[in-house]
Amino acid sequence: MSFNLNTLLRPNIKTLTPYSSARDEFHGEAKVYLDANENSIGSPLLKWYNRYPDPYQQKIKEKLSAIKGVAPKQIFIGNGSDECIDLLYRAFCSPGKDNVIICPPTYGMYEVSANINDVELRKAPLLENFQLDLVHMETLVDANTKLIWICSPNNPTGNSINREDIEMILNNFDGIVVVDEAYINFARQRSCISLLSEYPNLVVMQTLSKAWGLAGLRLGMSFASEEIISIYNKIKPPYNISEAVQELVIKALDNVEDVNAMIQELVSERKRLEEALTAIPVVEKIYPSDANFLLVKVADAKAIYTWLLSNEIVVRDRSKVILCEGCLRITVGTAKENDELLTALQKFIV
Ligand SMILES: *Cc1c(COP(=O)(O)O)cnc(C)c1O
Repeated sequence: MSFNLNTLLRPNIKTLTPYSSARDEFHGEAKVYLDANENSIGSPLLKWYNRYPDPYQQKIKEKLSAIKGVAPKQIFIGNGSDECIDLLYRAFCSPGKDNVIICPPTYGMYEVSANINDVELRKAPLLENFQLDLVHMETLVDANTKLIWICSPNNPTGNSINREDIEMILNNFDGIVVVDEAYINFARQRSCISLLSEYPNLVVMQTLSKAWGLAGLRLGMSFASEEIISIYNKIKPPYNISEAVQELVIKALDNVEDVNAMIQELVSERKRLEEALTAIPVVEKIYPSDANFLLVKVADAKAIYTWLLSNEIVVRDRSKVILCEGCLRITVGTAKENDELLTALQKFIV
C-alpha cells in the first residue's frame, strides 16, 4: 500500500485558504467581545445564545475522547453523519473525475451524496450472505477511486461485516476506507476505532442518532488520523454545531451508564421480537441482526406493509431493494410498540 493523503486530496482543497472566524483569530478570555459582530445585548427571550458557539466543540470532544478512547484531535463532529459523508466527498473527490465504491444494499446517503457532488459511483453488491465481494471490489478500483464505503453493521441487512475483510481492504487500498458504525453499540463485533493507530487511511463514523437516542439533535462523529481530521476542519462550515446542541450533548454524554442500560434493553427486545416473529406464519425469514432493527422476509411485503399502516404502524418496505426482495425492515421499538406490531401481524390474513 502506498497511501499519500496529499495526492488523494482534491487540488482545490489542498490549496484552499480556509475561512478564519473571529474565534479562530482570538483564543482565550476577555472582558469585552466586539470582534464577531454579535449582538451584545442579546435576545430578550434567549439571552445566553447571543454568542457564536465553539467552532471545534472542544468540551464534547474531551468527553467523547474519554468514552471512545480516541484523542480529541482525532475526532470530528458533524451536523449528523450526513455532514461527515458530504465533507468526505468534497475533500477527496473531484466532480466528473473521481469515483467511489459502495456495496449495496446499503445506506442511501453514500449514493445521494455522490450524486449531489457529481462523483461517479461504482457498485459491488454484497454476496448472498451479505458480506463483501472482495473480488468484485478489486476489479472496480482504479487510480481515481478515492473512497470505499463500508457500513458495519449494515443498513438495511443488519449484519456486521467481517473484520478480516475490512482489514484486507485497509491493507490493499490506497484511498480512504470509511467504516460507518452507526449501529455499533448494538453489535457483538468490536468497533474499528481500535484499528486507527494501524491504518492512516481509515475513517470510522458513528452517530448519537441511534444507541444514544438523540436523532433530533443531529450529531455525527468521525474518528481518523489527525491529518484527516484537520482536513475536515478546514472545509466544514465554521459553526456547524449550534450552542444549544453542544449544551445538550455535553449533558447527555455524562449519562453513559443509563445509555448502556437502554442499549441492553433494546438488544433484549430485539431477541424477543425475533423469537416472536419466528412463530408468525407470514414471516418467512428473519436475518440475524447486530443493529436495532430486523430485516424480515414476509409472504407478501406490500400487502403486509399496507396492513400494518392501516393499524397505524409504519415499517420500511425494502422489498424492491437488491438482495432484500420481499423484505420489510422493522425497527426494534419499546416493548409496548413491539407487542402492537406482533398483534397486528398475527391478525393478518393472507
Ligand atoms: C441512521 C444512520 C446514520 C445516522 O445518520 P445521522 O445523520 O447521524 O443521523 C448513519 N449511517 C447509517 C448507516 C445509518 O443507518
